[in-house]
Amino acid sequence: METLEFQSEARQLLQLMIHSIYSNKDTFLRELVSNASDALDKLRLESFRDKDMQVDTDDLHIVVESDPSERTLTVRDNGIGMTREDVVRLIGTIAKSGTAEFLKQLKEQQSASGSSDLIGQFGIGFYSSFMVADKVTLVTKHPHAEKGVRWESTGEATYTIDDVDDAPQGTSVTLHLKPSDDEDKLPDYTEPAKIREIVKRYSDFITWPVRLGGEDINSRKALWARPASEVTEEEYAEFYRHISHDWNAPLETIRMQAEGTFEYQALLFLPAQAPLDLFMRDGKRGVQLYVKRVFIMDDCAELMPEYLRFVKGVVDAADLSLNVSREILQQDRQIQLMRRRLVKKVLSSIKSLQSSRPDDYRKLWGEVGAALKEGLLSDHDNRDAILEVCSFASTHSDSELTTLAAYVSRMKEGQEHIYYMTGDSRVAVENSPHLEALRAKGYEVLILTDTIDEMWVDSVPAFDGKSFQSVAKGQVDLETEEEKSAAAAKAEEFAALLEWMKGVLEAEVKEVRLSSRLTTSPACVVGDSYDITPTLEKMYKAMGQELPKIKRILELNPSHPLVEGLRTAFEGGERESLTDAVELVHGLALLAEGGELGDPSRFVKLVADRVQRTF
Ligand code: ADP
Repeated sequence: METLEFQSEARQLLQLMIHSIYSNKDTFLRELVSNASDALDKLRLESFRDKDMQVDTDDLHIVVESDPSERTLTVRDNGIGMTREDVVRLIGTIAKSGTAEFLKQLKEQQSASGSSDLIGQFGIGFYSSFMVADKVTLVTKHPHAEKGVRWESTGEATYTIDDVDDAPQGTSVTLHLKPSDDEDKLPDYTEPAKIREIVKRYSDFITWPVRLGGEDINSRKALWARPASEVTEEEYAEFYRHISHDWNAPLETIRMQAEGTFEYQALLFLPAQAPLDLFMRDGKRGVQLYVKRVFIMDDCAELMPEYLRFVKGVVDAADLSLNVSREILQQDRQIQLMRRRLVKKVLSSIKSLQSSRPDDYRKLWGEVGAALKEGLLSDHDNRDAILEVCSFASTHSDSELTTLAAYVSRMKEGQEHIYYMTGDSRVAVENSPHLEALRAKGYEVLILTDTIDEMWVDSVPAFDGKSFQSVAKGQVDLETEEEKSAAAAKAEEFAALLEWMKGVLEAEVKEVRLSSRLTTSPACVVGDSYDITPTLEKMYKAMGQELPKIKRILELNPSHPLVEGLRTAFEGGERESLTDAVELVHGLALLAEGGELGDPSRFVKLVADRVQRTF
């Protein structure tokens, strides 16, 4: 017998279970039955693929057994089982992506509020046994292993592991139950009525029989194959929890049925809370694939594009081979067709949420909007449909987001573009000088602060025939004829100064010109329409990409006293001290947009010199 230590993250999770922060302890049984069901799925699949495998698949099932005098509860399956290495790797460690992050959040939340809903977002699976048991024994045998394995632990720092000569195929998990205790909401789990109730509630849809005292206690009906009118919301919610490892109920349930040459049924869910791995590199995506009620694979990415990775569910196709592989799926035309329909259905469901349940729509958007927007780059066919379900912050409201349709409905007479500005934060955008004139004239500007926004705005040409126009790029054309001729006169007055300034700032800017977008600030820097934005530039640099230096355009506000002063001094023949002043004006413009100075120490020295002169 060998004694091994749990990996430290596993140990932390176990401590959480032992001290049982989650009030609904019944769910441990759902987790064990769910694991057993997965193990049966896997064995059946393996036996299809490997005809030489010596296993009996005639009567795959799950048994729940209790012994009131010993106070034990056992969940047994004759599924795939685990090898010794599997047990150490799968039960002794937590390899799930996001565990560290989850534990961190959990700690923060616990110290903040004393309780935790977060646990619900993370499938804690097998470890939930320790909510109700003070010792757990697992015996398992994999078809390829010669001997079985016994694993045992009290959930403290260590577990023991040992060989077993006569273990049957599959896995049994025996819980040595804590004393039942009404106050601690710990019922007597050895009671058949209690077991039956929990299995019915949480695991009725499991496709394998769950037996108690020789009797099947679940109905085993695939939800997606039952008439929609007969399935309750609670049943959908339990099924969703089973496949998603999210302990919350789904926000929306979507059913689809396609008849004809290629028949399939789909049952999809939109989450009320974003999966923890939504923005992780190795996060899960895709739905479960079944063929005629037989489970084929988890995370079938061929059926759901990456930007809809928050959609969970099942697709059951009638005409695929049970042996279908990922390679085949990738090339299959029917699969591509199916995927297209699924995507359209998901997008149209979100759209109808928007009008029928706006609060839920907003919740969904807040959770997964940043992922959904990735589709604007990757899914050209559905770009318009995606734009329709997007929401953005805007200068129209401090707290409410706006849809593009609502923006367009508020556009001013003669306004041709949808104005937007990208930046690091709402505050940075709102305070940026670029917005001044638009604001003064009452134009609404979208405030885009997600990383992905920097990218899609350049590749999406228009919404509803209105093109997107950055207020920090190109020329802003907001002037009346009168204003235009006044501006032309000003431009003439300032021409010599602008030319000279361009020479002074040659290394930094490609042009110095007068601005029509400023009312209160002296200056701002802008890009040409095709230039990449400073934020994007920073991102590329952070990724280690070398970029050629991007020169931008310095715009001056001719009505500002500082700019007027520059001109007077210039015309008076001043050059040397004016050079410093020009550098300062350029630096201020960069700072105002949240940009970075090329040479901060020089800027500081220039400012210090100026301030000194005021005494
Ligand atoms: P999850 O089920 O969310 O992956 P668990 O902690 O419940 O997490 O289980 C970890 C892993 O241990 C499973 O993914 C599975 O590979 C293995 N496992 C658990 N229970 C069984 C079982 N009854 N039969 C075979 N393997 C199992």
